[in-house]
Amino acid sequence: MAHRAGPHFLQIPGPSNVPGRILRAIERPTIDHRGPEFQALAKEVLEKIKPIFKTKNPVIIFPASGTGAWEAALVNTLSPGDKVLMVETGQFSTLWVELATRIGLKPEVIEGDWRHGVDPAEVEARLSKDKGHEIKAVCCVHNETSTGVTSRIPEVRKAIDAAGHPALFMVDTISGLASADLRHDEWGIDVTISGSQKGLMLPPGISFNAVSDKALEAAKSSKMTKSYWEWSSQIGQNPTGNFPYTPNTNLLYGLNEACDMLMDEGLENVFARHERHAEATRRAVRQWGLEIQCEDTREYSPVLTGVVMPEGHDADAVRKVILDKFDMSLGAGLGKVKGRMFRIGHLGDFNDLMLCGTLSGCEMGLRMAGVPIQTGGVQAALDYLSGNA
Ligand code: PLP
Repeated sequence: MAHRAGPHFLQIPGPSNVPGRILRAIERPTIDHRGPEFQALAKEVLEKIKPIFKTKNPVIIFPASGTGAWEAALVNTLSPGDKVLMVETGQFSTLWVELATRIGLKPEVIEGDWRHGVDPAEVEARLSKDKGHEIKAVCCVHNETSTGVTSRIPEVRKAIDAAGHPALFMVDTISGLASADLRHDEWGIDVTISGSQKGLMLPPGISFNAVSDKALEAAKSSKMTKSYWEWSSQIGQNPTGNFPYTPNTNLLYGLNEACDMLMDEGLENVFARHERHAEATRRAVRQWGLEIQCEDTREYSPVLTGVVMPEGHDADAVRKVILDKFDMSLGAGLGKVKGRMFRIGHLGDFNDLMLCGTLSGCEMGLRMAGVPIQTGGVQAALDYLSGNA
């Protein structure tokens, strides 16, 4: 490909931009994963990751993408044929249902329109009917990356409690962690699933299960077939800085750095920065006269914004113009919203001027692609940002 001046704008909702500080950390020479230097690093990073999940319990790290951690959560706690209640919020919740089915679980799906998050009342109603406690787990996606909808996880917890149901509560925050608030312990989550390539600002390649005591207890009687994903072998070895296989040494250097960066900025400041960029983005989209995919203002995602195309206009054609002309990647509409919407990622290592460039590229690209928009979207974002510095 011909050289293009200036940086590529990677504005998909993950993988997000990897900051130079993390790239330099990862670039260090690979070391012996059974030697003392690595053991010290592993012990450090396994502690530093806990406050990111807001947990005091173990966080298990897999050298896998998020999908592996989805599978690990299920195979460690459940048994073949177990019923799981899963909520359709978009493409990622749908893929999780497919995974659960393939490994021999029986998902019962609460259907959704991909414009709303998990409805706590529906969860409560379904669990209340399950008098025999056949449902063994409730599985929700915190930040649905395919739509830009963030579910109200504490309210889902309350719904499970209101139904007096003992099901495990599993939450996928693969694109939420370190961008949107997530409190594993306080919110009573049993398994929190996450990945490296979004709010943690790392390349893809590692993923996580944060586990509650109740999940660890359930693991003792789980009968799903597993070997590589087995939590117990990790939990047995991690305290000495060891893993039951070759860990992703260089990404762990990066994770160590990422935890330091997040804590230096302060997690609450990180969340506020994401909220502010999301609000500026929504103001731009509204000024363009376009619809936001998320329909409930309580569920707006701080991580990404889904932009709906007017009838007769193809979101992928707009994305192509923006990539060709401005060297910016935006997220495609996935699954059943393919071509109907595109996604603007505003997460990770991201600041005001990057957002201004991103929105400028969108506004110019929408016009060049012939989408009938009102101009002034970028101005609306600038007004908001400068008034809320
Ligand atoms: N869940 C969510 C919410 C995601 O955003 C993604 C990926 O983008 C996944 C699951 C799957 O993770 P991975 O692609 O890292 O396997």
